[in-house]
Amino acid sequence: MPAGIPYEDARSRYRPGVARTVRNDDIAVDELLKGYHPDHGSNGRVALAVGVNRGDPCQPDLARCLQGNALIDDVDLAGAQLVSTDVLVIGGGGGGCAAALTAAAQGAQVILATKLRLGDSNTVMAEGGIQAAIGDDDSPQLHFEDTLRAGHFRGEPELVAQMVMDGPDVIRWLIRLGMMFDQEEDRPFGGNLLRKKPGGASAARILSYRDYTGLEMMRVLREAVDMEPGVAVWNRCPAVELLSDERGRCAGAVLYNLEWRTFVLVRARAVILATGGAGRLHLNAFPTSNHYGATADGLVLAYRLGARLRELDSFQYHPTGIAYPPHLAGGLISEAARSAGATLLNGEGERFVDELKPRDVVASAILRECAQGAALCAAGRLGCFSIPRRWNWRTPASLPAGS
Ligand SMILES: Cc1cc2nc3c(=O)[nH]c(=O)nc-3n(C[C@H](O)[C@H](O)[C@H](O)COP(=O)(O)OP(=O)(O)OC[C@H]3O[C@@H](n4cnc5c(N)ncnc54)[C@H](O)[C@@H]3O)c2cc1C
Repeated sequence: MPAGIPYEDARSRYRPGVARTVRNDDIAVDELLKGYHPDHGSNGRVALAVGVNRGDPCQPDLARCLQGNALIDDVDLAGAQLVSTDVLVIGGGGGGCAAALTAAAQGAQVILATKLRLGDSNTVMAEGGIQAAIGDDDSPQLHFEDTLRAGHFRGEPELVAQMVMDGPDVIRWLIRLGMMFDQEEDRPFGGNLLRKKPGGASAARILSYRDYTGLEMMRVLREAVDMEPGVAVWNRCPAVELLSDERGRCAGAVLYNLEWRTFVLVRARAVILATGGAGRLHLNAFPTSNHYGATADGLVLAYRLGARLRELDSFQYHPTGIAYPPHLAGGLISEAARSAGATLLNGEGERFVDELKPRDVVASAILRECAQGAALCAAGRLGCFSIPRRWNWRTPASLPAGS
């Protein structure tokens, strides 16, 4: 890849206050994605060699994990403590907490086991906000269409429909739990929820709280879980293998208690995997904004038990993040910055993409600037300026994976 334009040269070309129109590139979206998105290209995919998805295309780093040997085979589990429960939830982020609260509300006894502490997760790091169609100029139908279009019509329509229909109810549920959202008017009570326009959307539908929406969400979820007598929280107890019954169905899990350094077998009538994503695998060697727990554990455990997985060849590479200084590499510059008017410039001061296109398109456009030598370069890292139209700060951007 070309070295790029030195950071100081790029800065000297930057003219504050000059409005820039987007460069007119005659390139089809498909061509841009195929040429520059990390899902494509020679290192993009391999065929899985084992398991129920054998032959399916898979991201290579993830394929290595899915095809690795189970370390549990070398462990003597005789004498390990055995515990029974109705529902075992594995993972202590937003998904795990919501699942545990829902099961407990139906009268189930729940164990929520998490790798680190309750709330140590990607959920707590979410900044920009949550999408839900609540505006007068919006509808679940529009949200449905926008979501399918942004996913190049590869999403499962039934799942997308469920998500967009649930959106407004989930927001109401979070508000009932005590979650705060920004309002249009600065009033402590009342006022409509403030809505921002996400990339690739036809209406404003991001709901947020300051720039720490996930932290605020996790605050109320954690409190609700702590106060729910039907949920026992087991911190620092990662699941290391799933258990199956005589018919091969999931019947529990082997947990490893990191404090006592002992294994515990949990037998459960239902097991919910809520272990989050794979960003910390540093897919294709990209920096990441993801939490340390995001190492695809649930995918690997489920695959070893015979679950069919989907979309293994497609990951989100968030377009904007910190490239410099190096110790902050991977830190997120949230979509809220672009939504509020930040523009992306290459090292020559050109605006090369509409910043509110879907994330895969913006990410691919940035990678194209890097590949063509038009990105700026600081301390060996390539990136592009992110210039908010109204704010007075500048930063080079890179691509944290999976945020
Ligand atoms: C920096 C950043 C910003 C983001 N901003 C937004 C945003 O603005 N809007 C938005 O919609 N989304 C955003 N996202 C994405 C969003 O945070 C995630 O999609 C969502 O939080 C995932 O929730 P989850 O409960 O599935 O996973 P997580 O919140 O990641 O929780 C997974 C949990 O499982 C635990 N775990 C993992 N392996 C094991 C194991 N073997 N045993 C037990 N526990 C395990 C982890 O420690 C963690 O507690 C952002 C993500 C990041 C990283």
